[in-house]
Amino acid sequence: MIDAHIHLDDKRFDKDRATLIKNAEKKGINKFITAAVSVSGFSKLKDISEKYPSIIPSYGLHPYYINQHKKDDLKYLNLWLSSNNSCALGECGLDFFLKDLDKDRQQFFFEAQVELAKTHNLPLILHARGAVAAVFQGLKNARYYNAMIHSYNGSIEQTKQLLDKGIKFSFGGAMCNLNAHKLHKLVKYCPIDSIMFETDAPDQNLFPNNKIRNIPANLQKIIAYYAELTNQNINLVESNSDKVTTKFFKLNNL
Ligand SMILES: [Zn+2]
Repeated sequence: MIDAHIHLDDKRFDKDRATLIKNAEKKGINKFITAAVSVSGFSKLKDISEKYPSIIPSYGLHPYYINQHKKDDLKYLNLWLSSNNSCALGECGLDFFLKDLDKDRQQFFFEAQVELAKTHNLPLILHARGAVAAVFQGLKNARYYNAMIHSYNGSIEQTKQLLDKGIKFSFGGAMCNLNAHKLHKLVKYCPIDSIMFETDAPDQNLFPNNKIRNIPANLQKIIAYYAELTNQNINLVESNSDKVTTKFFKLNNL
């Protein structure tokens, strides 16, 4: 199994990263698409991806840290992507849920990163909280749709349009809540060849543990929940999502 979105470089994993990776590997989770969030973390992620071969790095500027990012960071990201392996560009995107993040500034960094992804021919790992329409508009402006939206939660109408452009989605802990009816409907609507799975660890732990640290091994529970929700064979779901994720991130070419 492949975790399509995780932050294994997060400092909340500094104490027990090796153990947590081992525990996840015991459950059959053998690749972790790990997304950096700001230039200050790029060399740490590079280091740990060299130490742990199951960690596949991606580099980007996350909208949460919009006040930390400088315009020069885009130049740095461009150079970094030219000289380091990265399976994607991200995590980047827009967050209109948190009200203190300046929208125009977010938009500027997001659109610049879409252009960079295009230049480097890399898929995008997108964050689109409360901002699916704006993120889609950014992709349309650049005419670049090689993208996945992590922790996806758009409307069915939006999803139709995104699927039409070949955009992929990943689902995680939020789906594993009995009361997430709208999200369940969405998950069931998405064709299996458009879906990946993620933990987003250390964030987004499964309900009712959502306030405590999420761990990589939980991917298995997430996939099991999905298989049950959609009444599909779990082995089939696993092999299917592995195929989708491997193809999207070109993991066979790394
Ligand atoms: Zn994330």
